[in-house]
Amino acid sequence: MGYRFDFLRADHEYYAAWREYRRLRRNKWVALLSCFPATVVAALLLVPLSRALKSDIPVAAAGLIAGIIAFGAVAITHFRQMVWKCPKCHRPFFLELFCYAPFDDACRHCKLPLYAPCDPAKQDWERA
Ligand SMILES: [Zn+2]
Repeated sequence: MGYRFDFLRADHEYYAAWREYRRLRRNKWVALLSCFPATVVAALLLVPLSRALKSDIPVAAAGLIAGIIAFGAVAITHFRQMVWKCPKCHRPFFLELFCYAPFDDACRHCKLPLYAPCDPAKQDWERA
């Protein structure tokens, strides 16, 4: 059984790092889940604007531009979560040379468990 974020306190050594990881993960999911609706809404807003300005940009191009921007947001937020650094070893937590494992529950390099409040190797109860 691993650690859970709910049990962390602000005075724990790695609390700030885990909070940052959760923020990056939340941003990625918000970007991913809002990608399609944002594209549709942006395209629907761009079409009347394109007509009002008597622009030559066709409707499909307006949707394509909105889709590229939305997909770019997904790619950027996902990349930021992918390269997020482990609070213990400061190397990418989920990324190894050619292996990306976003659902791992421990660091790919130092094996720090996900949401560990501090370095377990430094604790007396782990050495016993
Ligand atoms: Zn690590």
